[in-house]
Parts: sequence; C-alpha cells; structure tokens
Amino acid sequence: MEIPFVDLKAQYKQIKDEVDPAVLAVMQRGDFILGGAVTEFEREFANYCGVEHCVSVDSGYSALELIVRAYDIGPGDEVITAANTFIATTLAISNAGATPVLVDCDPVTYNLDPSKIEAAITPRTKAIMPVHLYGQPADMDAINAIARKHNLRVFEDAAQAAGARYKGRRAGNLGDAAGFSFYPGKNLGAYGDGGAVTTNDEVIAEKIRLLRNIGQKVKYHHEVKGFNHRLDTMQAAVLRVKLPYLDDWNASRRRAAATYARLLADLPIELPSYADDHIFHLYVIRIAGRDGMMDYLKEKGIASGLHYPIPIHLLPAYAELGHKRGDFPVTEAYADTIVSLPIFPELDDEKVAYVAGAIREYLADHPAHEDLPAAIAAG
Ligand SMILES: *Cc1c(COP(=O)(O)O)cnc(C)c1O
Repeated sequence: MEIPFVDLKAQYKQIKDEVDPAVLAVMQRGDFILGGAVTEFEREFANYCGVEHCVSVDSGYSALELIVRAYDIGPGDEVITAANTFIATTLAISNAGATPVLVDCDPVTYNLDPSKIEAAITPRTKAIMPVHLYGQPADMDAINAIARKHNLRVFEDAAQAAGARYKGRRAGNLGDAAGFSFYPGKNLGAYGDGGAVTTNDEVIAEKIRLLRNIGQKVKYHHEVKGFNHRLDTMQAAVLRVKLPYLDDWNASRRRAAATYARLLADLPIELPSYADDHIFHLYVIRIAGRDGMMDYLKEKGIASGLHYPIPIHLLPAYAELGHKRGDFPVTEAYADTIVSLPIFPELDDEKVAYVAGAIREYLADHPAHEDLPAAIAAG
C-alpha cells in the first residue's frame, strides 16, 4: 500500500464536477483579477468565520504581514509569537520591520504557553501572534486577557485552523485580526497559493484592501504605497466550491485521528490530545528514535513529515535574534521527537490501520526506542 502525506487528487475527484465548471466560468467571464468569485468568496468566508470582514490575499504569509503593517507595527516594535511555528509567522513580523519575540510552547497542546508570555513583554511589545498549531486553537482566553492587561493587539495565525472552533467561536474571530492560508495542503486549500485576513475592524479591513491592491481603491488613485497581494479569481472560484465541504472534511480528519489514537494507545508514543476543538491539520506524535521510524515507514510506502525540524531560533535566517540551544527547551526537545503521520479527509480506517501496524512492527523490532525521555513524555 502507498500512503501519501496528503491526497489532493482524491479530493479533486470528489469535487471535479463542481470545480471544473467553476474554473472554466472564470475563463469565460475573463474577470481574472479581483473578479466576482473573489467578492463572493470573501462574503462567504466572513460568514463562515462569523466575522464582519474578510479580505482575500495571495498567501497566508501575505495575510499575516499585511495585518502587522495595517496596525502600523514596524521598526522598533516587537510581536510575541511561538518558537515552534512555521517560519512564515515570524517572516510576516520581521519583513514588516518589527522584531519577533519567541515564547516556548505548552507541552500538551504544542501551542504558545500563556504562562510564559508576560516575561517576554517589553515596552516595545505591540502584539501577540498565537498560532493555532496543527489545527488546534491556542489558549485564546488566557492570551486575550494578557493582551488586554498590557494593551496589546492579538493576531491569530489561523493558517492551519480553517474551520476550528474555540468555545463555540470560529478561528478567525478570536482576536483583533487573523491570517488564513489556502496553500493546497491546508484544510481549506486552493489550487495554488491563497490566503485571507478576517477581522471585525472595518478600518483595518479597508487598509488591508488598499495594501493588497497597490494602494488603490479606484484605479490609478494610489492612496498609499501598497503591494500586489491579490487572490486570483480562479483560486477564489475553487475555494467557493470547497468551503461548503470544509466541516465534513474536518470531521473526517477527526475520525482518522480517533482511529490513530485507538490503534496506537498502548505503544510507547505520545499522542496528540483529542480535544473537541482540534481539526487535525496535522497528526503529530512524539517518539524516541524518530528518524529510524520515519525510514521504516518510508520502506512500507508511508509518507511522514516534520513540523518543524528546526525551531525558529536555531535557523540561520534568525541568527539576528541572538538565541542559542537551550533557550526554548520544550520546543527543542519536541523538534527531535515529533513526527507527523499522514492525515487527510480521505484517509480511511484501513489506511490508518496500515500506518499504525507499521509503527507497531517497528517498535517491536526496536525495543530501545521505548525510552522516550521522561521530560518529553511528561506531556
Ligand atoms: C502555511 C502556514 C503559513 C503561511 O501560509 P502560506 O499560504 O504558505 O504563505 C503561516 N503560518 C503557518 C503556521 C502555516 O502553517
């Protein structure tokens, strides 16, 4: 059996009858740039998230960077975010001219640890950017309370959390503004790059509309020095077809995660929490001797991934932050033991059982791998 990490072709087969004519219709209409489907998708995604405004853009990265810029955060300012995130989060901050200030993750949820945020606040701090990592919302009540106390903005990096709910409210409606990614492999993926900002702040939404479209609302009337970060109409047409399926697809991911949890429960592995609010963009386990197991899975035709192998503070790109190994112990320990197993809506129980079976076989042959260090297993 071959099990890919995600199966975009299987999903395309399911929606081909709707998505093909939707894309063709864009070509027939010729409204390729900020066309009808863009406006429609923005309205539909705002409704879905329960927010007033959605401004679509060309990637999740752009969404986050435009949020930082729209709040006039730049050189001399600091934004607190997660040490174990994907680099797009911190690039959005540093490319806007501000400094990302990293905080370690909670050992159970992998999300920004609220108990470590206040120590990172300085007079320069302007915002907190929690990441709903792997599809589970961050501890937003605690984060928003800290933000209120210190008069900070809260920007959700919701790139991995389209459709997730936190205490009944959708991701994208849990802070001042949120950035989503529609990268093809995300839970709501376009057929190319895409992203969106959601917010209830009309002024910010308007500012981002200007910034994404070379600073103009009326053609050639450039009010500010903007960028070209528009979402293609064809991608919006694809996203409009996919959005009504998102809740079902997320439910299928949860089913696959529940099957993994059942089949792996007795093994010396740390499983992700199966919290109600988790939509499992990724299914991340921790295991001692991770690299050997990944090789074994590969031999069995099973893809796996690392999210992420090198924490932000140890990347050459962020040498300027002046960190060293040891600064974020949970993030560092996890980077060496995490592995992401295949998960996607079309991953049925038979395939999950095949992956779980391969892990079981590997551990039976490698008893030395049972000594997941106590500190890591504590979660
Ligand atoms: C995917 C992702 C992004 C960036 O999205 P792109 O659309 O690829 O630019 C940002 N943050 C996180 C946590 C992501 O997973």
